[in-house]
Amino acid sequence: MAPVVGEEYLDGHVVVRDGRIAAVGSGHAGRFSGEQVRMIDATGCLVTPGLVNTHHHLYQWATRGMAVDKNLFDWLVELYPVWAHIDAPLVEATTAAGLAWLALSGCTMSMDHHYVYPHDAGDLFTAQVEAAQRIGLRFHPTRGSMDLGQSRGGLPPDRIVEETDAALAATEDAIDRWHDPAPDSKLRVAVAPCSPFSVTSRLMTEAAELARRKGVRLHTHLAETVEEEEFCRKTHDCTPTEYAERLGWLGDDVWLAHGVHLNSDAIGRLGATGTGVAHCPSSNGRLGAGIAPVRQLLDAGAPVGLGVDGPASQEAGRLGDELRQALLAARLRGGPASLTAREALSMATIGGARCLGRDKETGSIEKGKLADLAVWRLDGIGQVGIDDPVVALVYGAQPPLELLLVGGETVVRHGELQTGDADSLARGVRRAHRQLMKRVRR
Ligand SMILES: [Zn+2]
Repeated sequence: MAPVVGEEYLDGHVVVRDGRIAAVGSGHAGRFSGEQVRMIDATGCLVTPGLVNTHHHLYQWATRGMAVDKNLFDWLVELYPVWAHIDAPLVEATTAAGLAWLALSGCTMSMDHHYVYPHDAGDLFTAQVEAAQRIGLRFHPTRGSMDLGQSRGGLPPDRIVEETDAALAATEDAIDRWHDPAPDSKLRVAVAPCSPFSVTSRLMTEAAELARRKGVRLHTHLAETVEEEEFCRKTHDCTPTEYAERLGWLGDDVWLAHGVHLNSDAIGRLGATGTGVAHCPSSNGRLGAGIAPVRQLLDAGAPVGLGVDGPASQEAGRLGDELRQALLAARLRGGPASLTAREALSMATIGGARCLGRDKETGSIEKGKLADLAVWRLDGIGQVGIDDPVVALVYGAQPPLELLLVGGETVVRHGELQTGDADSLARGVRRAHRQLMKRVRR
């Protein structure tokens, strides 16, 4: 019997060979005579696909806990001048620590959206790639950009935006240097101008053309707040979704962060075009942005994944927690039938893989797919007595992680990171934060 997405085994096995899932089924895996075998007894545990993070800004790990009571635009205006002082060592330290933190919350694949490139900051993209290779997660860094400074009607100060052509050239260079299209790739690059209020229409249009010429995916922030909607109506005389469609930014090679303020026409267009949405319920709550219409997006057929978003607007940053946040947010908006525990888990796994264009390769436990697996311990005091393991995972506190495998390689074991020292990663972020604040005060 071929395992299918959604099938569950109360008592089952997964066989991993050469980084891929060789078998999955009920009961014991049987004998493996003549092979070198490592057996893992997961009694008391739930095995799920590794979680997929569809929206993040890892550099913000150095600027958490600031502008804590502000809406998006006021928060950005306070933080842009701080971010103007980031450099490559800060990006290296925050990327490593942020990915380690994601791994410890069950994440096997994450994107990053980096859009702040100060002129003298060094090679930030390479710093990210090297940090990710060290921690061992599947990584989809996006080359972000901003070219609409205050003097031209945008929100960011002019000194942290790039020239349009320079941003496009740097984006193309990042793709040429780093993008790996192989089916088992641990490094894929996408193109990601930041948002309607920090990017010109020309950069949006030409970025989409570049991505399609190169065969890579497209990402941006869209429909996050009422202020953004007002900006689009005033500047372009349309909603953010109409603006995106006008610029060639709807399609099954695009996923959008947030999608909070979407009318029924917009939801229909996202569903019809297969445009994905990175749902970030904790960040939306922290900034008071609103609650995304997740039920309606799922019903319209749009791919929906979960994202932690940048740690400056979501200090907790654990992807495992977003399962519960997504469930609660959907129900606060539309009542208890709005989202089930299994739908939340599906968004965090195969839904996220669809957003990142990896659903044929990962996001579910199926024979032949990459062995990206999370093993959650459910027999401890936090989850004990909840009979349904998926309910225990989603409704309860995030359980301890027994094991995290990325392509069969161990990244977390018994709740401890195996690919780096968590204390030294924390020290790296503390150093980066202090040096940043010193530069800001200067
Ligand atoms: Zn964001």
